[in-house]
Amino acid sequence: MESRLKLRALLMAASLAALSLFLASQYRRRRRQKLRSGSCYLRTDSKPQQSFKRVLADNSYAPFKHLKRKDSDDEISSNVHPYEAEIMALLNNPRLEFKNRPDDMDLTMKDAYVWVETVPQLEELADILAKERVFAVDTEQHSLRSYLGFTALMQISTQEEDYLIDTIALHDSMGILRSVFSNPSICKVFHGADNDVLWLQRDFHIYVVNLFDTAKACDVLLKPQRSLAYLLETYCGVATNKLLQREDWRQRPLPEEMVLYARTDAHYLLYIAHCMVAEIRERDDEESFGRDDKLHFVLEACRRSNAICLQLYTKDIEASPGEAAASSLISRHLNGQGSASSDALDTQFQDVIRRLCAWRELMARVHDESLRFVLSDPAILALAEKVPSTLSEIFDTMTQADLNAESLSASFPSPSPVVCSHMDHLGHLFLKKIGDLNDLFPVILQTCLGQNGSCPLTVCNYPLLVNSTMKLTNRVLSRQNGSKSAKQVTRKASRQLFVQKFSCKSPVYHNCRIYANDGRLLCYSDRRKLEWYLRRDLAKVVDDDPPAIMLLFEPKGRPEDEDNDFYIQSKKNICVGCGEGNHYLRYRIIPSCYRMHFPEHLKSHRSHDIVLLCVDCHEVAHAAAEKYKRQVAAEFGVPLFVRNIADSKDVRDPSETSELTVNFEQAGVSPLELRTAAMALIRHGHKMPPKRREELTQVVMRFYGGREITNEDLERALLVGMSSHERKRLEKKRGLSLKRNKAEVIPGAEQKKDDNDTGVLSIAADQLEVGRLDCEKEGAESSFISDEGCGNSLLHCDSVAEEEAPISIENDKNIESNKSEAFNCEDVHAVDIYDDEESRTVQNEVVGIHDSVNGGAPQPKHNPKLSLLGHGPHGKQVVDHILQEYGEDGIREFCQRWRQVFVEAVQPRFLPAGWDIKHSGRRDFGEFSVYNPAKKASSDAART
Ligand code: AMP
Ligand code: ZN
Ligand code: MN
Repeated sequence: MESRLKLRALLMAASLAALSLFLASQYRRRRRQKLRSGSCYLRTDSKPQQSFKRVLADNSYAPFKHLKRKDSDDEISSNVHPYEAEIMALLNNPRLEFKNRPDDMDLTMKDAYVWVETVPQLEELADILAKERVFAVDTEQHSLRSYLGFTALMQISTQEEDYLIDTIALHDSMGILRSVFSNPSICKVFHGADNDVLWLQRDFHIYVVNLFDTAKACDVLLKPQRSLAYLLETYCGVATNKLLQREDWRQRPLPEEMVLYARTDAHYLLYIAHCMVAEIRERDDEESFGRDDKLHFVLEACRRSNAICLQLYTKDIEASPGEAAASSLISRHLNGQGSASSDALDTQFQDVIRRLCAWRELMARVHDESLRFVLSDPAILALAEKVPSTLSEIFDTMTQADLNAESLSASFPSPSPVVCSHMDHLGHLFLKKIGDLNDLFPVILQTCLGQNGSCPLTVCNYPLLVNSTMKLTNRVLSRQNGSKSAKQVTRKASRQLFVQKFSCKSPVYHNCRIYANDGRLLCYSDRRKLEWYLRRDLAKVVDDDPPAIMLLFEPKGRPEDEDNDFYIQSKKNICVGCGEGNHYLRYRIIPSCYRMHFPEHLKSHRSHDIVLLCVDCHEVAHAAAEKYKRQVAAEFGVPLFVRNIADSKDVRDPSETSELTVNFEQAGVSPLELRTAAMALIRHGHKMPPKRREELTQVVMRFYGGREITNEDLERALLVGMSSHERKRLEKKRGLSLKRNKAEVIPGAEQKKDDNDTGVLSIAADQLEVGRLDCEKEGAESSFISDEGCGNSLLHCDSVAEEEAPISIENDKNIESNKSEAFNCEDVHAVDIYDDEESRTVQNEVVGIHDSVNGGAPQPKHNPKLSLLGHGPHGKQVVDHILQEYGEDGIREFCQRWRQVFVEAVQPRFLPAGWDIKHSGRRDFGEFSVYNPAKKASSDAART
């Protein structure tokens, strides 16, 4: 009987073991499957810091920016301690506020404490603290699931109360406490403040001024130990469990035990500090005998404390990613194991370690995780020793290494979710599909954060993308093509981010905010301005609903500056047509293809002839202008576009055979349109929807006079309007890209493709996009006019072209790499249209290789002010003609015609004071102005 039972038990145990083995293998298999799926765990796993809207220390390689004080001189660089003067003053003249004797103090910790988690509560606390002479502080950090770590809790204790501040919930509002911390007349007591002081700077721009550090007091008093646990025990008879220090302080609600621990860390500090100051004073009294400085030791304790405050938080920047960790692993291995040292000397071993450390480092930044969470040191060593050759071998080596090393129960999975969801490129790296380590960064950026990247963009990793060019050119990559592709990645990602952030929600055009890089609100604006900055990597998203961005450069003007037109401007944005105030675009009443050729002094009425229109009115006005352009073309006998004459002998369409009887309505195709269509057909023709393919084919056919086209024709169409130099570049590029088997499409086509791919832009945004493309063409024409440029006023920059920087950007240089934070306005024009390397080559120079229809008129061979992309040549000929025939009056009349066209098409009801078709500039109220008394009555009536 008994043996039967035994047998049964044995069988049971065996089957349990088998089952668990089976489950384990299933688990592994599922994991392995998962790791091939390539979707990022962060798509489903959420972390508390994802709710932070403003992050001062992001995961990029950009240096940390310290607080700039409002009252400080603007010239002072941001990497000077903002409170240096105050702290220096304290070093020589400490302000200790320990009046009452320790024995008067109440040591007991009552049950109640104050949990601070809302802004009003925090404000109330700030008010309370402002009245204190001294308070105690401690912070708890979280570092496992974050790259740089963040403050998860702040404990503040006064004589009366213990406050626990939820610094996760209040992350974006902690600045409320800035002033009490920097107030030199309030003493802050910490124990071992070295790190806290830096963490507070890093997360909240909080700077401690007037610190008393009880650990420094230990040093001065030559205490046998300097730990807080020691002080708690000797002064207060309180024992603490310091193991709780390493708990996950992100937990909410905090377990009771952790609350108690956290309170304890701050609660007794005031008492301890009082005791220690009393001791130090005693010591001074004893030992100052015969010395001048009666407060020698007190001074010393204060000096040492306040010296801590002078430290500045910085991000560690390595020469190349993961280098420091790799060197330390290699040297540790060399020293640690005598027998394995031959391993460590092995170049392959070292190479694998460097690769893995670089990968780990970049993945940690991208996913905002600590290095150890991404990939453990033992796993790296094991991989370098074993050099596995398949994905599953890689996987098992890591698992085994972590299992072996699991001395202290690691509370996180191995391999990490980062490894599991991105095993593919770890594999590539490991199996040397990525030959050059320098290529790793662009590859990771591309696959993780690029267009359709696997991983979510956040305030933490987005700047990594933005600053990648800088990082690449300065440090990791010196090679040209590397940085170029990173630039493309960046641009795409900016766009993607914008689409992700701002689409699919009810449109909010007007209450978008723009912050300066110190966090001060600059202005409210529309989305387009936000997009403008994001596209150029000049800003980062700090809020999504309603959208807000922070500029990555120092704007030239601030709202508090006098006469800040930009600020005022942003407040009265309404469509001059219908009064719509929610969205608007700039519209140029006189098309720039003409205006750019006007004599300088006739160009000066820019603001008069650039108005704001809502999307609908913009379309109406634009259509009317295009129609009128064709009328002008017919009237002056100057076609809008260059046509392909070289192939005219093949032309089948009889209406197109005679150059002199051109139908101006369809006189040609713009080179940009032509090339875009041809490129798209060559690259994606086979996989395009038939309808789209047909449309594009029609465009190219029109260029060839309507005849059927061949692949050769498509190839030739790519070169239309290019100089031989540009042709060579394109050919070279195409050759390269074909070799790399990587699709690179010329900008226009790419843009359209993006829209289709994402498909989430709201309708309104689509229309804006259309408007944007239109203006980019126009921009191409006007942008080379230097005088239109930017002068110094903020408004200037705002009003020249649709796409210009709303805030003028100082300084010069480095548009190309987009790495400088400060640009010259004129360069901004350039950036504006150089949306891409290719469009730059297209637009930079103008050479007509196919002569235009009216071959008679001599064309400038190389005129940087002219572009074949728009109606530039047409405009020039028309304006030249007018000037020749009618002089400047002719130009004035020509302008009036355009204003007339505009007024007739849009019937504007909200034109500003002084607006007039004749634009004498002398009358206060134009005929069409809202301020015109007669007009005002009718528009008021219309509104009600
Ligand atoms: P404390 O100054 O003791 O309150 O510690 C503040 C924070 O520093 C803790 O929340 C931890 O995140 C971190 N910390 C301090 N010491 C250690 C340690 N020995 N190991 C891990 N983390 C620590
Ligand atoms: Zn990911
Ligand atoms: Mn603590």
